[in-house]
Amino acid sequence: MESTELLNDAVLTRGVAHGAQFLAGLATRPVALPVEAGQIRAGIDVPLPTRPTDPVSVLDDVVHAVQPGLVASAGPRYFGFVTGGREPVALAADWLASTWDQLVSAWVGAPAMCEVEATAGRWVLDLLDLPKRSSVGFTTGATQSNLVALAAAHLELLRRRGWDAERDGLRGAPAVPVVVGAQRHSTIDSVLRLLGIGRSELIEIPADDQGRMRPAQVRSVLAGLDDPLVIAQAGQVATGACDPLAEIADALDGRGWLHVDGAFGLWARMIPGRQHLVAAAERADSWAVDAHKWLNVPYDCAMVVVRDGAAHLRATRKSGAYAMSGQGSHDPEHYVLEFSRRARAFPLYVLIRTLGRLGIQDRLERSCQQAERFATAAARLPGVRVLNDVVLNQVLLSLDPDDAVAAQVLRRFQEGGVAWAGSTVWDGRFAMRFSVSNWATTEADIDQTVTALGQARSATRR
Ligand SMILES: *Cc1c(COP(=O)(O)O)cnc(C)c1O
Repeated sequence: MESTELLNDAVLTRGVAHGAQFLAGLATRPVALPVEAGQIRAGIDVPLPTRPTDPVSVLDDVVHAVQPGLVASAGPRYFGFVTGGREPVALAADWLASTWDQLVSAWVGAPAMCEVEATAGRWVLDLLDLPKRSSVGFTTGATQSNLVALAAAHLELLRRRGWDAERDGLRGAPAVPVVVGAQRHSTIDSVLRLLGIGRSELIEIPADDQGRMRPAQVRSVLAGLDDPLVIAQAGQVATGACDPLAEIADALDGRGWLHVDGAFGLWARMIPGRQHLVAAAERADSWAVDAHKWLNVPYDCAMVVVRDGAAHLRATRKSGAYAMSGQGSHDPEHYVLEFSRRARAFPLYVLIRTLGRLGIQDRLERSCQQAERFATAAARLPGVRVLNDVVLNQVLLSLDPDDAVAAQVLRRFQEGGVAWAGSTVWDGRFAMRFSVSNWATTEADIDQTVTALGQARSATRR
């Protein structure tokens, strides 16, 4: 039963077969069906095994047990959160990354993958038209990207105040004013908490009806602050709206540090006709952007980009003789939190090499057009209203003037299994959030989804 064969054909073939079966049914299976926790747990929470078991039968049993709780979130009619699918070639590259199992910390331990990261980083800067000499780290998500960038920013702004936080820590450090938008992503707060910056310290700029910082307040607030840290956003999760980056950069006029949380929205930099939304993003000091959302690389992959590479290194540089860095062209460990890490950039590298600039651009623009198509058709349904300007891939809908009825419509829509989208509270009211982020979504998928929403709408009594 135990085997030391490195190529265990039976196990690997079985794993691939289960994966292939899932992919073959992805477009036609119910997107998400109601499920009880107990129903899944029965097959999962088994007594901890004492002895080894045949791995093929374990795979079979476990795949069977998880079925009812698997969501077709990588499928073409999943519009929840901001969920990318994954391009087949990126999935293949991800499998290879696991197979090669390289330790992508220092160049000497994984030369090929370190070169891949270095090139992928330059390509990302090129695609997003960000300053060419910025440093790039490949992270687990925009959350970690925000953490790394904001740590670099905070340390740098303290340094400019004559405080060496690396040596003396944060207790007793001078305060750095931190400016955020009212409709920032929730992970900004969790990241700031880790950096020792409390909620009461934040200076919050009020948002307009799209969730953008109001420019007049940007000017008046920033005028009175000494070297502040400003955390702006490109792509609000409900509306897709972007903060007025040019106004912010103008108001800062070279002072402080501007960070752009652009998890998905920063990709608007690549879409002709939508670039005005994120104009002036290149004037920022750091950026967070995902590859696992709109770029359709499998989880998890994102980038942190910092203009001042030295400031970046002061936040996350590793020391220690065992790190063995400095023996090749690029040591990725210094630009992220992790030391041991997978070849996270490899699937993205392969995807960019496959699609090219124009291929990526087409995908992004298509999502935006599909979002418009959905919004236009949904707006014709009785009682339904589009709440946002559909500028990118996000649509925000009111499903009924009565919140309780709206919630029922959404539940009926979700339980139908044709498609799935989530909800939020916008301006105090229940709203449906719809995100088109998957390369595999077709216009027919959008139309089918509108029909399903219409049926849920008419089946719900007002
Ligand atoms: C999704 C998102 C995040 C968090 O990114 P993860 O990749 O999920 O860690 C942060 N900010 C914005 C604007 C987002 O959309």
